[in-house]
Amino acid sequence: MSKQTLSFQAEVAQLLHLVTHSLYSNQEIFLRELISNASDACDKLRFEALNNNALYEDAPDLQVRVTFDQAAKTLTITDTGIGMSQQEAIDHLGTIAKSGTKDFMGKLSGDQKQDAQLIGQFGVGFYSGFIVADRITVESRRAGLPADQGVRWVSGGTGDFEVEAITRAERGTSIILHLRDDAEEYLNAWKLKSVIAKYSDHISLPILMEKEEWKDGELITPGDEAGGRQPGGMVKTGEWETINKASALWTRPKKDITEEQYAEFYKAISHDHEAPLTWAHNRVEGNTEYTQLLYIPAKAPFDLWNRDKKAGVKLYVKRVFIMDDAEALMPTYLRFVKGVIDSADLPLNVSRELLQESRDVRAIREGSTKRVLGMLEDLAKHDKHEAAAGGDDGVTDVVDADDKAKEGKYTAFYAEFGSVLKEGLGEDFGNRERLAKLLRFASTASDAVTVGFADYKARMKEGQEAIYYITADTLAAAKNSPQLEVFKKKGIEVLLMTDRVDEWALNYLHEFDGTPLQSVAKGAVDLGTLQDEAEKKAAEEAAEAFKPLLAKLKEALKDKAEDVRVTTRLVDSPACLVVQDDGMSTQLARMLKQAGQQAPQSKPVLEVNAEHALVKKLDGSVHFHDLAHILFDQALLAEGGLPEDPAAYVRRVNALLV
Ligand code: ADP
Repeated sequence: MSKQTLSFQAEVAQLLHLVTHSLYSNQEIFLRELISNASDACDKLRFEALNNNALYEDAPDLQVRVTFDQAAKTLTITDTGIGMSQQEAIDHLGTIAKSGTKDFMGKLSGDQKQDAQLIGQFGVGFYSGFIVADRITVESRRAGLPADQGVRWVSGGTGDFEVEAITRAERGTSIILHLRDDAEEYLNAWKLKSVIAKYSDHISLPILMEKEEWKDGELITPGDEAGGRQPGGMVKTGEWETINKASALWTRPKKDITEEQYAEFYKAISHDHEAPLTWAHNRVEGNTEYTQLLYIPAKAPFDLWNRDKKAGVKLYVKRVFIMDDAEALMPTYLRFVKGVIDSADLPLNVSRELLQESRDVRAIREGSTKRVLGMLEDLAKHDKHEAAAGGDDGVTDVVDADDKAKEGKYTAFYAEFGSVLKEGLGEDFGNRERLAKLLRFASTASDAVTVGFADYKARMKEGQEAIYYITADTLAAAKNSPQLEVFKKKGIEVLLMTDRVDEWALNYLHEFDGTPLQSVAKGAVDLGTLQDEAEKKAAEEAAEAFKPLLAKLKEALKDKAEDVRVTTRLVDSPACLVVQDDGMSTQLARMLKQAGQQAPQSKPVLEVNAEHALVKKLDGSVHFHDLAHILFDQALLAEGGLPEDPAAYVRRVNALLV
């Protein structure tokens, strides 16, 4: 291969522009990203070598070396991992393979601060080198290829890059950063060690640096520099030392790991730049033995809704990395969970197919699912601390610092991931009850999405037999829905469900803790004992007296309404639409239609308010036909729908106005 110049994929060029212009606020993360890539490359070699030991060539050591050259102003990160072939260098360092990349780029606003935040969620990986370098040279050879099939890749981080063939005896990759003037602080062993300690201590691979000594021959050990001497007048000794702990974080005892180390490990495996919301680290013993370190992120990734999104849990077997995105380890509705599972029982050569069938994997998935639900329950429990009610013993509720730190976290979690969690109702029957307890909604008592079914039940009125809810496109539409009028009048709380998946999710949940869930827009209202005898009697009489009028309305609206009846659910509105008990809600039908899907043809029931002036006026009106249609169309409008023939509606209203 002779030297050639190639262009970056458009998205890479865009990303690079952002990296160099927006990401300087946290320069040092480039080292974490590059060391993490080096570590992945070694993991890949170890895995491929399970079936082909020759890949180790004559150098079994897997390690990362960090060196710098003050005169040349270069910082080099070298690994003895899998390396890249010429084509791989072109493909992997010139394009982004992540699904959803284009969509993501479309979301960027041009506002630097906002974009920097987004880009952090996206993960910049290799390209973060350009935060500190104005040119990067990559030299690599794939394990197993002959020495003359190495590759050199060079780019200034703008539109294009150069590649050429080189001879490289050592397998693996060197990333040579030609540092910008404002990044020269990284040409210093002390600085590098401190950044590596901060971000990469948990890497299981040894990270080596060349020992330095003072010119007078005195060795200096890490940490000693503070003893009054400025590093500077030092020379390299040719000896290497390991500067990280080099033991996988999850294999260490919990008590030896600081919160900061947990958070840094999370950032390294997730490419998230924010600390996680919470995590759980456990060794599970019994029939199946494994270690789990599972994190719940604070922010949803940009591609949460991509159903093909890779799962976030990495599988290790006895500390050997086996695969990323092992979807068999976590149910789909928990796809936001990140972490590591290290099994002691699975064979090293386990394949994806085998994972699907393994009993051990099933046990791991069940255990991990329960662990995640447990973490969420714990956050939910500590979400808010209300002062202990009553209590005349003068003792105030003691909240320990740990609990305090969890306040508000569940609400934050739910805002990011609540919709995904709901998918679990349809996916994970075994945990349905636990999931139902974790759901939160807005209600007529709270605009904030913080009301759980249990809170609702605790506030139910004497004699109330159902949990009432309404689904709508927006909170405003739900709150102002005519169907709520009688509930408002009687002070009965109604859950307001405005998430697109609610309607679907509720198909899988008919009751909570023995109390049925009842849509206020389905079937006839039956408030049971909440309605007094006088009200019931008045309603029956009205229905009787209205019979002839109802028959006329039914005839006029026979193409639109399944039935027309008198209702007690309305107070201020003249009419509303409801669906039959077993029917699909009008909201869901509308959503299906918008999505281009066939919604079953079921007509709604028009319910009229016998007390309303407009309804009273209907009988004997010369405009009866127009009024009947206006009544129906308005009911549709009130719940966020559109009349089938909007022009006809306008014409009818205008005729009356004139
Ligand atoms: P990511 O690591 O998220 O895939 P990067 O942009 O960091 O994205 O890297 C792109 C690809 O380049 C990697 O997936 C890998 O195939 C390749 N790569 C990067 N660094 C190395 C390395 N040190 N050794 C081998 N391959 C590498």
